[in-house]
Amino acid sequence: MASVVLKGIPVSAGISIGKAFFLSRSHIHKLPRQTLADELILAETARLEAAFKQTKDELTAIRGKLPPELREHALIMDSHLMILSDPKLAGAAKNHVLQLRINAEWALEKAVAEIDAAFNALEDPYFKERMQDVRNVAKRVLGHLAGQQQDMKAIQGRVVLLAHDLTPADTALIEVDKIMSFATVLGGKTSHSGILARSLGIPAVVGVTGLEERIEDGKLVVVDGLKGRVIIDPDEDDLAHYSDMKYQFEGYQSAIIRSCHLPGETIDGYRVVVNANIELFEEVSSVIDNGGEGIGLYRTEFSYMNRTQLPDEDELTEEYFDLASIMAPKKVVIRTLDMGADKFMTHFGTLEESNPAMGLRAIRFCMSHRDLFKTQLRAILRASVVGNVSIMFPMISGLREIRQATNMLRQAKEELKKQGLRFDPDMPVGCMVELPSAVMIAEILAQEVDFFSIGTNDLIQYSLGIDRANRYVSYLYQPLHPAIVRSIKHVVDSAHQAGIEVSLCGEMASDPYCVPILMGMQIDAISLNPQAIPGIKRIVRQATMADCKDLLKQVLESRTVSRTNRLVRDNIFQRFPDELMFYSSLLETDEG
Ligand code: PEP
Ligand code: MG
Repeated sequence: MASVVLKGIPVSAGISIGKAFFLSRSHIHKLPRQTLADELILAETARLEAAFKQTKDELTAIRGKLPPELREHALIMDSHLMILSDPKLAGAAKNHVLQLRINAEWALEKAVAEIDAAFNALEDPYFKERMQDVRNVAKRVLGHLAGQQQDMKAIQGRVVLLAHDLTPADTALIEVDKIMSFATVLGGKTSHSGILARSLGIPAVVGVTGLEERIEDGKLVVVDGLKGRVIIDPDEDDLAHYSDMKYQFEGYQSAIIRSCHLPGETIDGYRVVVNANIELFEEVSSVIDNGGEGIGLYRTEFSYMNRTQLPDEDELTEEYFDLASIMAPKKVVIRTLDMGADKFMTHFGTLEESNPAMGLRAIRFCMSHRDLFKTQLRAILRASVVGNVSIMFPMISGLREIRQATNMLRQAKEELKKQGLRFDPDMPVGCMVELPSAVMIAEILAQEVDFFSIGTNDLIQYSLGIDRANRYVSYLYQPLHPAIVRSIKHVVDSAHQAGIEVSLCGEMASDPYCVPILMGMQIDAISLNPQAIPGIKRIVRQATMADCKDLLKQVLESRTVSRTNRLVRDNIFQRFPDELMFYSSLLETDEG
């Protein structure tokens, strides 16, 4: 049989060849709609009843395992169990199968729509919330109807993981000895699943249309994280080609790792510190092995996911303390909780927000959950007695927010002092610049903090108005858009005028085409996924500041993204042809 090639967005470099494992297809948006022949009707009602029973058993089992302190969660589960037994859902769905002669999924969808219409007529917020419960329950039943409610526990051996979407919580459960690579239908260039794949060093492709329709479990697939391809049923030629690519890529990686412990410094002596971004404590060894000069971004939210209880102060203190001591004397920048948007804690569930990326996220979430925020601040402070710890706040939109955050930090310090607990009173405090408003007032914000860290993943999302996880607008995700280049330049200049340091920790920092431009701005540090450090360090070490400044000058004169991209590609390719062979750049996509 001929192989089938599906295109997607490459988000983590490398090649893998293995058997496909599909993680739950319950997200399939298009539900099957069929009219049934008479002789199939009874079997269909039985299928529906079985799915309701499986859901009930599943929820009862989860409910039984909840610890007593999660009373609130248990109450939600009770209400879900009641919905499952309510004739308005199960009974109505069964009637639709019998009377309208339609399949179970369609019948259930109709029953949900009827309840929705009845609740809507009441216009009471209480019923609107209950509607969400009804939808959640129906989603579980649909998962059982699909009969493929698989989770990662079912994986045997090493597989290529395929899914409609992987939430950051799903991705945090990935075990690299079981999952060699992954591909998803949803996702964009800087979605968090891709970020984690890079940190774990496994190839990944997102935004792959046709994945669910074309692949079955157990089929042989190739995931090409260099070019963004998923090849189903590879033929002999494909297998020979991809095995060769894999061999070359791995050879290149082991060659560059040899020089990765040298400092980030240009030929003409300009220093740019190359730090690492990490999401999980376990990645520390990868930072050290790949030559990270420090940790420029510790995304702390992953320690709060996939658990029903929040971590307490002692647990967090121990985690941050261990991190700081292992890395000492190297710097560790701990970012406070960036919850919300696509990242959720089981403890709080998901909020009903129509624009979560612009909703109760990051510092806003923390300011509305002050106890939780205070606990984290106290833990970071307590860990600052060892090593070289800094703290930074995400998603700051203006002066009020940074002052609220620093006030909370001050309160936490006073409390610790009263309790006789030790901390570093001079721990540096930073502000992430990831909103256009923060860019515009960078010189004002610079008066309030010790350093800036530019988060271009979000800065690009909010400046260009494109959801960073949306594959349809992924082609518009342009780090070298004149607005973005100018924004970064403005932030770097404002920081330097105020005498503070500035780093950049978005995915742009791991893009070989973008780094020389950032260097031309005289950025003090960049922070990137550990796997990309050796390659990027080679670029830094082979560059001269004079060339970088010259390139930046030309880029700043360019008025369009396409001209800039062309200019940069020609220039960088000429200088670093070997380094670019295995890179996928934010500048390149099939759509673009
Ligand atoms: C960013 O927005 O660039 C960033 C580094 O933060 P995150 O990717 O975690 O949102
Ligand atoms: Mg961000």
